[in-house]
Amino acid sequence: MIFAELKLKDCVVRIPFVCRQCGKCCRILSKIVFDPVEKKIYMENIEEISKHVSMDELIEELSRKIDAKHPVMLPCPFLKDNRCSIHPIRPKSCRIFPLGRELDQGIGCPGLKRLMELTSAFNAESLEFKFVEGDIEKTKVSEEVVEKFLSLSPSDEEIELFFKLNELRTSERSRRKADISRPSRLSEQ
Ligand code: SF4
Ligand code: SF4
Repeated sequence: MIFAELKLKDCVVRIPFVCRQCGKCCRILSKIVFDPVEKKIYMENIEEISKHVSMDELIEELSRKIDAKHPVMLPCPFLKDNRCSIHPIRPKSCRIFPLGRELDQGIGCPGLKRLMELTSAFNAESLEFKFVEGDIEKTKVSEEVVEKFLSLSPSDEEIELFFKLNELRTSERSRRKADISRPSRLSEQ
């Protein structure tokens, strides 16, 4: 998962990156090279991918499309209907995009644009982009921070990922629980 970690005055909050599945990075920045002479595909992770995808068929398809004599950098042939058809086994460079030496390499990733919009709404002392695979211990945030995030009209996916990365501080969770369970003065009268 990719997220921005923001250091605020009294806590650290993580804002998730959500891919908009526009396919731009796969069309413009894929690192897949096809050598039509050798009939070979060069791509990170190719051994793993070839266990799941018929490389012969793919090479045949690429050979029909490409008649150049020299290796050609391709829009990724695994991009189908703007989605990655090998998503669970895609190469690491795809998993970490738009992070890297230079954020999104200037292609205008809409997911990154949205992330920057969300992060700029917080008055952060510092910001760090991170990529984590597997489970991650949640960071504890204040009620004010949660409310701020929810006021930014996040999508359902952004909300779900936000709560995978952050949780309300215990003290504020119990206070909120107590508020809910305590009968209001009006109802007592
Ligand atoms: S450019 Fe950004 S939003 Fe579009 S597919 Fe790539 S990572 Fe996702
Ligand atoms: S492997 Fe998937 S994520 Fe990577 S460039 Fe190709 S289509 Fe895009």
